[in-house]
Amino acid sequence: MQIKTFKGGYDSNFAYLVYEQDQALLIDPSVPATEILNFCKENNLNLQSVVVMHSHHDHILGLREYQKLGIPIIAHRSIKLAVDKHVDESDQITFGKNTFTVMHTPGHRFDSLCLYNSRSKSLFTSDTLFVHGCGRVDFEGSNPNLMLDTLERIKRMPEDTTVYPGHDYGPTKTSTIEIEKRMNPFLKMTREEFLKQRLG
Ligand SMILES: [Zn+2]
Repeated sequence: MQIKTFKGGYDSNFAYLVYEQDQALLIDPSVPATEILNFCKENNLNLQSVVVMHSHHDHILGLREYQKLGIPIIAHRSIKLAVDKHVDESDQITFGKNTFTVMHTPGHRFDSLCLYNSRSKSLFTSDTLFVHGCGRVDFEGSNPNLMLDTLERIKRMPEDTTVYPGHDYGPTKTSTIEIEKRMNPFLKMTREEFLKQRLG
């Protein structure tokens, strides 16, 4: 499985096109659809589906453009947008021989997902976990207590898992669970410290 990272959109967003042979899956549609579709065309890739990782405006670019081409949009079942397929915790999203396990990871937003591929030990975290940071929890649709539960879950993942975040906000583009457990202040705080720091 190969990963093509696109950076751009509204705020140094990362969109990830994962592909193998001629099959591709888009994780986090946060850059203009034309960029993704052009890359697919140039590389003879069939875009199987697009996974919305949460429904903030900078992460739902060009959904109608994909739908017009018959490419289904997948999102958590709590999303308030019209999508083609709902998923929930532990569901599998497949393309070619690859499988991603859906993790429902509320906190930053109620419909936030992470996707885990056990074969490549890759975790796509969108705005749940950044390199040395985490998503804001003071928005409508956020829940700081659920974010803490989500971060606890992420800490229990295999340490050699590579983390692919939704924005380029850290010193490196990707990280690992092992590095984040050592370097990410939000993974080391008590509940009280986290709530004080994040909500002031
Ligand atoms: Zn967000």
